Amino acid sequence: MIIRAKVVVTMDGPPIENGAVAISGDRILEVGKFADVTKKYSTEEIVDLSEQALLPGLINAHCHLDYTCLHGKIPRQKSFTDWIQAINAEKAKLSPKDYVRSINEGFTEAKRFGTTTIANLTAFPELVSKVQAPIRTWWFAELIDVRDPSRANEIVDLAAEQLKPQKHWGLAPHTPFTASANLYRRCEEIARRENILLTTHLAESSEEMSMFQDAKGPLYEFLKEIGRDMSDCGRGTPSAHFRIIEGNRPCLLVHVNELTKTGFDLLTKMKIKSSIVHCPRSHEYFGHSSFQYDKLRDLGFNICLGTDSLASNDDLSLLAELRAFQKVFPDVSPEDILKMVTVNPARALQQENALGKIRAGFAADLVALPITKSTSVFEEIIAFNGAVTWSMLEGRI
Ligand SMILES: [Zn+2]
Repeated sequence: MIIRAKVVVTMDGPPIENGAVAISGDRILEVGKFADVTKKYSTEEIVDLSEQALLPGLINAHCHLDYTCLHGKIPRQKSFTDWIQAINAEKAKLSPKDYVRSINEGFTEAKRFGTTTIANLTAFPELVSKVQAPIRTWWFAELIDVRDPSRANEIVDLAAEQLKPQKHWGLAPHTPFTASANLYRRCEEIARRENILLTTHLAESSEEMSMFQDAKGPLYEFLKEIGRDMSDCGRGTPSAHFRIIEGNRPCLLVHVNELTKTGFDLLTKMKIKSSIVHCPRSHEYFGHSSFQYDKLRDLGFNICLGTDSLASNDDLSLLAELRAFQKVFPDVSPEDILKMVTVNPARALQQENALGKIRAGFAADLVALPITKSTSVFEEIIAFNGAVTWSMLEGRI
């Protein structure tokens, strides 16, 4: 099959006007000028996308589809801790069936907006076998042991067993304030043994920083009240967990909004410069401190974007995330911004030789959307508001 478009945005060199992509099975055979590709591969099946841009399928580096059904249920709260309590109250009303429905609805929405690969955290690894993911999915088990740290190993091992049958899976110790140091350690052990990825929320809110550095603030008080061992707080450093995730295994660090000098020093020392996932609209919803894009990129981190969940966002459109990012960082080139939902997350998922670009041998995951001028194609893609008009996953339209 040959697909022709007004412009093919390969993310692997300059965009190709009047370009074409030849597909065989679930792979890309060739990409180039329409005339050259048709000369090389004679086929009866030509899909002409006419006045559209064809680009690699988008990759969402951080999402919680569990909470799709909480869209609009949690108004902005005074503090991050209030939001945690509000979402806990909403979660208490949901049954396993509700969660399965919520995950399925989330998949449909993500796909509609051009996402073909997603790094999805689920608090319910036992439900994953009940879901037929319509896009390429990395299932991460979100793990919390704040109420029972003596069960850390058991919690991790059970989740690993539940996710093992999945093609792509990983572990997500939730965050240093809900997951014990032992739970982080066990996740690292399993990640090494199974050769899987890790992801974790880190330094998301100023309340997390006050808790770890100064042993005070609303998050500190809340967690102390529910019985968390607070002996790792008040030592003037961000969190001992920084050291645990110091870079022995590649990890997707999510948020990293609130960084003091010590936090930066710890990141600077990390052996493997992991990926950092910024969620622009969720960041705006909570009103966190400015994301330090330039500094983190200059340290060598691979910056990706994610939507987070609909409990703190309006929809699962990655293009809307690009616009939100561009509003805050107008000096970053539109091409570099688009890389944060294609090339960069492909690298974060260790798929830099298979996803995120239109290149021979890569997976045939493609999306298209209408454009008017091909001279400013990256700007037009970022400005596109709505569902994509065409998509292909693993060679199937
Ligand atoms: Zn999250």
